[in-house]
Amino acid sequence: MTDQLVQNIQYRRDVMRVLLIITFIGGCIFSVVNFQRGLWQLALIELVYGLFSLWLWRRILTTEHFQRWVTIYVVPFFIIMIYGLSVPQSSESIFVWILTIPVISYLLMGRKQGFWFSLTFIICGILAYHWRFISTEHNFSLNVAISVNVILSSFLMMTFAHVYEKNREQNEDRLLSLAGTDPLTGLANRMKLNESFHQLSALAARHQDPLTVVLFDLDLFKSINDVHGHAVGDDALRHVANFLQKNTRKSDLLARFGGEEFALLMVATDIDKGHQQVNALRKLLMKTPFTTQKCEIQITLSAGIASFGQDGHDLDNLLDKADKRLYFAKENGRNQVISQDPITANGTGNLKV
Ligand code: GH3
Ligand code: MG
Ligand code: MG
Repeated sequence: MTDQLVQNIQYRRDVMRVLLIITFIGGCIFSVVNFQRGLWQLALIELVYGLFSLWLWRRILTTEHFQRWVTIYVVPFFIIMIYGLSVPQSSESIFVWILTIPVISYLLMGRKQGFWFSLTFIICGILAYHWRFISTEHNFSLNVAISVNVILSSFLMMTFAHVYEKNREQNEDRLLSLAGTDPLTGLANRMKLNESFHQLSALAARHQDPLTVVLFDLDLFKSINDVHGHAVGDDALRHVANFLQKNTRKSDLLARFGGEEFALLMVATDIDKGHQQVNALRKLLMKTPFTTQKCEIQITLSAGIASFGQDGHDLDNLLDKADKRLYFAKENGRNQVISQDPITANGTGNLKV
């Protein structure tokens, strides 16, 4: 995927780095304190975990397996916390750490995984707390008050974290969708085209499926602007965008490439089939004029087609190839589709119009 549209997990790496350094410092301090209190088992676990956190602090910046390392860090972190809570000599104040469970889970793992981790470990934490601290010496109403405090404060933190993360994800999705959309036509833009190509070409390579790249350019579009004005030109562009959207498959990716140019990624379609379909599209557009209040404007298109693998493996090369063929279509009189290299001076290559 391209950098621009990848959901940004950088802030999660930053949060993780802060947590790891706190875990390292906390691990060292608590291991000394617990060792002095005779809790050498807990002290040893805390020391090992602190050192592991220091090691992970370096690794987390570059790892491609961020989520895996988060899980490897978080599960023992919560287990040690709950173990600490259940050790007879530990202090009641350790309970405050349970309040960090939802914040850590949601910030590092997102809404879905964060929800299940929070729920599971908060319940375990509350059970451990009750088993350890709710005293039979206390009277019943005091026990109920303690329980209600513990349960409510934990689930309140979880609710805050959930609502925050849900809103953050929705805003991020909205921004990502805006960043990938052309404002005039509502089609995908060039950035989204790049991102989709990365995904679709990887799938095509894996399944050995053909993938065809098409570049459309509207014929003599400038004259529409010149004769009818720029606003009508904009409407004409929307008309063509709707037409293409309606007459191409949902699984294909249609984008406004810029100006009055459009690009289409045709999945599971070889270049010959792609040629036939684009030619049919070209003919259909001739029969689908753009109607204004005053007149009908016939719009035609030229297209150049390239094949993933045969004509290149990256989008720039493929678009370059398609653009050369498109240029030839223009030179040859417009309103046509070209999917092969033109006959060259030395007679090599062939032409399919
Ligand atoms: P050709 O057949 O050679 O492609 O001729 P053309 O006139 O379409 O090509 P040219 O590149 O010379 O002009 C493209 C025109 O498209 C120029 C510009 O006025 C128009 N255009 C580009 N973007 C927009 C847009 O967003 N709105 C409008 N109304 N016009 C646009
Ligand atoms: Mg153009
Ligand atoms: Mg044009």
